[in-house]
Amino acid sequence: MVDANVAGFETYASFLDRLSALFQKMDERYAATAAYYGFVCAGCTESCCETRFYHHTLLELMYLHRGLQTLEPEARRIVCDCAQKTARTVHSSAGRVMCSLNQDGQCLLYAYRPMICRLHGIPHELRHPVKGVIRSPGCHEFEAHHVQKPYAPFDRTPLYRELAQLESSLRQETGFREKIKMTIPEMIIHN
Ligand code: SF4
Repeated sequence: MVDANVAGFETYASFLDRLSALFQKMDERYAATAAYYGFVCAGCTESCCETRFYHHTLLELMYLHRGLQTLEPEARRIVCDCAQKTARTVHSSAGRVMCSLNQDGQCLLYAYRPMICRLHGIPHELRHPVKGVIRSPGCHEFEAHHVQKPYAPFDRTPLYRELAQLESSLRQETGFREKIKMTIPEMIIHN
């Protein structure tokens, strides 16, 4: 297993810097489309941070760990304790479970959050090589209050592709071959 901790991300820092640039591109595209709809992610009664999202890349795992290292030791200890408890119940719980990084509605590692946390919320499309264009709706809050305007194309395909290419390069460099399917608490306690 490749280190997701300090040694790992120092060794592979250039990959994480490229991921950071890709995340910035995602944020800019998302912000422009959200602005078109007048959609602001705030005051939501159904926080998407309670959704059991899975994350699949070594890049995002290492990037989250880079973020964890920026927390004060006491804050990091609290987050890790919370993640230990949440990781034990996240798969057995039928209901929604709040992400260990969400404190009072704020993401403690906002700058280091994974891709799906950045892209969730607005309607989007994917260009599948066989099935063609697959469109998906926005989140619950978006569909309830922001569907008056015509759909503004938000194609996730090039963003996914760029992430996949970068992940492939990192895996070649590291020799890492395992599949990853982790929730945020599992990523936090992973070492
Ligand atoms: S990483 Fe941050 S944005 Fe993503 S689910 Fe957790 S608290 Fe929410």
